[in-house]
Amino acid sequence: EKMVYFYGGGIAEGSAKLKNLLGGKGANLAEMAKMGLPVPAGFTITTEVCDYYWKHNKTFPETLEAEVEAALERLEKVSGKKFGDKDNPLLVSVRSGAAVSMPGMMDTILNLGLNDETVEALAKNTGNPRFAYDAYRRFIQMFGDVALGIPHHDFEEALNEVKAEKGVKSDIELEAEDFKKVVELYKEIYKKAGKEFPQDPKKQLWIAIEAVFGSWMNDRAIKYRAINGIKEGELLGTAVNVVMMVFGNMGEDSGTGVCFTRDPNTGEKVKYGEYLPNAQGEDVVAGIRTPYPLEKLNEIMPDVYKELIDIMDRLEHHYKDMQDIEFTVEKGKLYFLQTRTGKRTAKAAVKIAVDLVKEGLIDKATAVMRVTPDQIDKLLHPAFDENEVKKSQEIGEGLPASPGAATGKVVFNADEAEELAKEGTPVILVRPETSPEDVGGMNAAEGILTATGGMTSHAAVVARGMGKPAIVGAEEIVIDEKAKEFTARGVTVKDGDWISIDGTTGKVYLGKIKTIKPLGLEGEVAELLEYADDIRVLGVRANADIPRDANVARNFGAEGIGLCRTEHMFFEGDRIQKMRRMIVSKTVEQREAALAELLPLQKEDFKGLFEAMEGFPVTIRLLDPPLHEFLPNDEEQMKELAPQLGITVEELKEIVENLHEFNPMMGHRGVRLAITYPEVAVMQTKAIILAAIEMVKEGKKVKPEIMIPLVGTVNELKYLDKIVRETADKLIEEAGIDLDYKVGTMIEVPRGAITADEIAEVAEFFSFGTNDLTQMTLGFSRDDYGKFINDYIEKGIYEKDPFKHVDQTGVGRMVKIAKDYGRSVNPELKLGVCGEHGGDPESIEFFHKTQLDYVSCSPYRVPIARLAAAQAAV
Ligand code: PEP
Ligand code: MG
Repeated sequence: EKMVYFYGGGIAEGSAKLKNLLGGKGANLAEMAKMGLPVPAGFTITTEVCDYYWKHNKTFPETLEAEVEAALERLEKVSGKKFGDKDNPLLVSVRSGAAVSMPGMMDTILNLGLNDETVEALAKNTGNPRFAYDAYRRFIQMFGDVALGIPHHDFEEALNEVKAEKGVKSDIELEAEDFKKVVELYKEIYKKAGKEFPQDPKKQLWIAIEAVFGSWMNDRAIKYRAINGIKEGELLGTAVNVVMMVFGNMGEDSGTGVCFTRDPNTGEKVKYGEYLPNAQGEDVVAGIRTPYPLEKLNEIMPDVYKELIDIMDRLEHHYKDMQDIEFTVEKGKLYFLQTRTGKRTAKAAVKIAVDLVKEGLIDKATAVMRVTPDQIDKLLHPAFDENEVKKSQEIGEGLPASPGAATGKVVFNADEAEELAKEGTPVILVRPETSPEDVGGMNAAEGILTATGGMTSHAAVVARGMGKPAIVGAEEIVIDEKAKEFTARGVTVKDGDWISIDGTTGKVYLGKIKTIKPLGLEGEVAELLEYADDIRVLGVRANADIPRDANVARNFGAEGIGLCRTEHMFFEGDRIQKMRRMIVSKTVEQREAALAELLPLQKEDFKGLFEAMEGFPVTIRLLDPPLHEFLPNDEEQMKELAPQLGITVEELKEIVENLHEFNPMMGHRGVRLAITYPEVAVMQTKAIILAAIEMVKEGKKVKPEIMIPLVGTVNELKYLDKIVRETADKLIEEAGIDLDYKVGTMIEVPRGAITADEIAEVAEFFSFGTNDLTQMTLGFSRDDYGKFINDYIEKGIYEKDPFKHVDQTGVGRMVKIAKDYGRSVNPELKLGVCGEHGGDPESIEFFHKTQLDYVSCSPYRVPIARLAAAQAAV
């Protein structure tokens, strides 16, 4: 197996297609070299070597050394320089790069190849000894820190010592002689740590290569993968990129930058980025110096700027997606160090996908695959209540690095953020800047605020990826980490105080601010979801009980109601009293009288649902929950309630006691209630059909579907079906109109599922109640399983929470069986899902594959379901 891939001098052995083998960075460097772009030559050691290294007790394949040697020779030839040469030394960077971008996670070493001799040559050849010695000390520092594990902070201290001695504050004021001193101090630090700085460049190289492979398994890399859902073993490992150095810090005609071909925050088609003159790339990413906007380069070197813009366009066209590009200018010559698919906000993801379709670069199916259901979810997520914002005290402003609103208690370190968040306390992580060590805390926090750094700093990039609100570079905020407080605009904010940050505007506020969800879909999101509608096969309906929710659902694109839980209507206003009167009735006549009062109210609700759904089907489920849920169970309330219901407290107590069940979820509920009290089903049927009749008379379209819950045997359904149909048909006949309605059932009891052929003889549709079906198939109480499910997941017994993501092997098989049996009897049988799984993308994919007709989910999940259904169909 080939282990080393070379590129440079107009050729490349690899390409973008080899991303798994060469990592994202290596594959794209090869691709750019192939495109003829100015890329510093180099070679990539494959991810397979990383895999081998970890599987073979940290050793390398025997032939690796020879392959690296050969590649190094080619690099020397192409560059015209020699490794370790006294006159014209080759210097390289050694960088990690896995198939999935892990920003800042892995280690990088720059300026490798410098030693006491080659530094002199670098000084002579550049005519800039200050630059050469600065490069040398940076290398010794990075090498010590990254490859040998000497604390970074020891080096910083030594550097500060030299600055203090000289009475200066910044590195820029140091001269060649000062850096020579720094080099000597650094070597002392190695000695104190019991290490030696290797003068032999080859030795340096092998130590660095091993360090990069080693970093694949360091804590922060493991944590990053865990947070981002990358399973161990899913990736082979990291590749190692050995690339000829180019220097952005060789004076004012040099510099470094990061740019995006479109704005990663808004998705706007504008070039976007940052440029830092006379600096190395690390300076930008670390957020130590705040860079200029990209246009600054146009002022300094217009020709270089023009070339950059041209190549940015070429890259975006080539990859057909927004690119995140790193470049360096060395003495007026432009080099590309990296290109990759740019991370973007949810808003930008949608806009870019839709714009690229309009520009003819990608098709609709591709666009639909470019946005995750989570991103759509984020777009429907919180912003601050504007009125509350007006009343709040603004205490600072920074760069709006990642949109969204967040409120929480201030914490100054990542570990504390993790601890507090675990206890359920919302926190805002406030840091001077962030580094990869902080990723756990960033993930736990509601939002992130940093005092320094730009839009491409670690904090900004990571927060955007996580979809966390973040503000960076808020320079008014002066942090005192020791005292655990910050001051801003004269206000001192202490550890544990509440603040609110708006990552969309960049503003920081004192105190808590209420957040609200945005309503409605507009602009590109609506367009993208229309693409999704063109592609998807599954229908998407909503679970909505009241007209308000039904309207939200319709605005979000629901094509009907898949489940109206009628009992929810009984809790509104004084209806509960009427319901209670019905429950405590002693005779059928009393019960019918109470129901008669409920009927007009239900009818109006149903009209509202029909109205909202504009002729799409509305599935209304007959009363489902056990009756005790409608009655109080504490003495005081009973004392108050009994006289209102015209009975004694003792009588009420007895009723409550009689209704008590040890296992109410498997008790007197669903169809079982209707078998005991058919008059309830009669009233509800009347309300549905009368509402529909009134709609028809108003000239409106309606498609009522009456659904019987918790059916386990066809005999239950037969009994109810007859009552419902007789009631409905009589009303329709009396009204003298045409009205189509359907009677169907929920499949949520295992017996119902496996006798679906019998049930399908009667039911016109099935709706899988996957909540109860999961409960009863697994035998896990849906109300109590939370106590032990984590043990199951930790021990790998169930991979995931089966109430969140449908258990495909068990419950899924139940669904398939019911589908096959059902359709074998009635090929026209309509099949839907109305359990919580109907809004879960992973489950939606399964339901698509199982060839159901639709899913039904809560109104806010409708857009997500539309997208997920389309993605399942691509
Ligand atoms: C179900 O069981 O999946 C269902 C939709 O009904 P409910 O959640 O109301 O029991
Ligand atoms: Mg149910």
